[in-house]
Amino acid sequence: MSITSINPANNETLKTFDSLTKEQAVAAIERADTAYQSWRGTSFGERKKIIMTFAKQLRSRVSEFARLITLEMGKRISESEYEVNYCADISEFYANGAEKFLADQPMDLANVDAYIHYEPLGVLLGVMPWNFPFYQVVRFATPNIMAGNTVMVKHASNVPQCAKAIADLFAECGLPEGVYTHLFIPTEFVETIVSDSRVQGVSLTGSERAGASVAALAGKNLKRSVMELGGNDPFIVLEDADIEAAIELAVKGRMVNAGQSCVASKRFIIVEPLAEQFIAGFKEQLAKLKIGDPMDEQTTLAPLSTEQAAQKLLEQVQASIDAGATVLLGGDRPDRPGAYFHPTLLTDVTPGMPTFDQELFGPVATVYVVKDEQEAIELANQSSYGLGGCVFTKDVERGRRVAEQIETGMVFLNQPTKSQAELPFGGIKNSGYGRELSHLGILEFVNKKLIHLGKR
Ligand code: NAP
Repeated sequence: MSITSINPANNETLKTFDSLTKEQAVAAIERADTAYQSWRGTSFGERKKIIMTFAKQLRSRVSEFARLITLEMGKRISESEYEVNYCADISEFYANGAEKFLADQPMDLANVDAYIHYEPLGVLLGVMPWNFPFYQVVRFATPNIMAGNTVMVKHASNVPQCAKAIADLFAECGLPEGVYTHLFIPTEFVETIVSDSRVQGVSLTGSERAGASVAALAGKNLKRSVMELGGNDPFIVLEDADIEAAIELAVKGRMVNAGQSCVASKRFIIVEPLAEQFIAGFKEQLAKLKIGDPMDEQTTLAPLSTEQAAQKLLEQVQASIDAGATVLLGGDRPDRPGAYFHPTLLTDVTPGMPTFDQELFGPVATVYVVKDEQEAIELANQSSYGLGGCVFTKDVERGRRVAEQIETGMVFLNQPTKSQAELPFGGIKNSGYGRELSHLGILEFVNKKLIHLGKR
């Protein structure tokens, strides 16, 4: 079986890679386990040196890696450059912070001398998506490598060049063989790896469907797991919001990565007094987006990741229109080669339509008009997902009150959900469980061992 890299801007094949046999994949587990036996004994200082070199290399080779990202999955080149630099930030954050995050924690007991001691667990598997092909891998790999675990990664099948570049870079920076392993494998091999007794945990970032399947495997084999899945984030605009800022950020929040971000704002919930003005302004700004070659700095809307992704989105939009949704803008694909999709704005969307129930991964926004704050909260929570969300109001106390009632893992005030190395990232409900980034991210795959030294 082979894994193919295709440029979604023109659907031309770039490169093909052979996938591993099952025996080769199992041999890689053995190498990762052997590497773990010595890596776990290295000091934070030794690990830090390598991860800081990795960060430095990312920064000095931004253009090279960014070009690869844009070539394989189509995001705008400036977004790819941002992604590579952000990976360097995350690497530095864990290189500098790991020792502090994993320091012994004394228990606060009057007569007992006891503490929590953090230890690595062993070999971990990461199953990663294509939408941020460097970032997703780095946010899983660097904290776990710093914690003393060894990691194996099965990357998405449409970004093999990025997958290889990351693995090569870790090796060039001096990471011993087996501490980071990239596996070119089909999804069927994931079961073999998760069920191997040497593998201690699995972290998946991807769709709800893939998450449910891999979480079931983890459960069956009693392995630790983290699931970072899809989202249908609400973007609530209350009547005291700065409407111009809300419109500008609505465009940015929806169109980040051509709409293919788990935390892209997807459902725009606007209270009645502002609805007409918001819809008119949002539509005007969306219509100005310039579809084009993602390597061109002038392009403001890139293609989707693959031809199949664009076709799937078209089907979801068309099914919603057939069921009664109103198209205010777009709704179809431009007549040009590549996985492009017009910026689209829909309204009159109701439960039972794909645009209401499912995650739409592309430049499609849906607008809902509600009577008041209470109705906005209820609609925001009427979703099987619970990843991020945001509330626009000039009143911080009101914003806090609303934020606390939204059923998601993250809520931002007056800005769309974003990712930052120091802040925890993750969801609830069908958006998954566990947290990445921040000090919480490094605690997911460590043994929080109690050591009891007796009475004081
Ligand atoms: P995907 O189709 O679920 O693929 C993600 C990864 O899982 C890929 O490596 C894929 O391999 C693998 N996979 C798929 N089905 C599998 C199965 N049954 N068993 C084992 N592995 C399986 O998702 P995607 O299209 O790449 O990514 C988009 C999704 O990721 C969206 O839903 C998005 O919201 C979500 N996401 C979530 C976060 C977060 O932090 N919460 C961040 C980014 C993206 P193949 O490529 O070989 O199929």
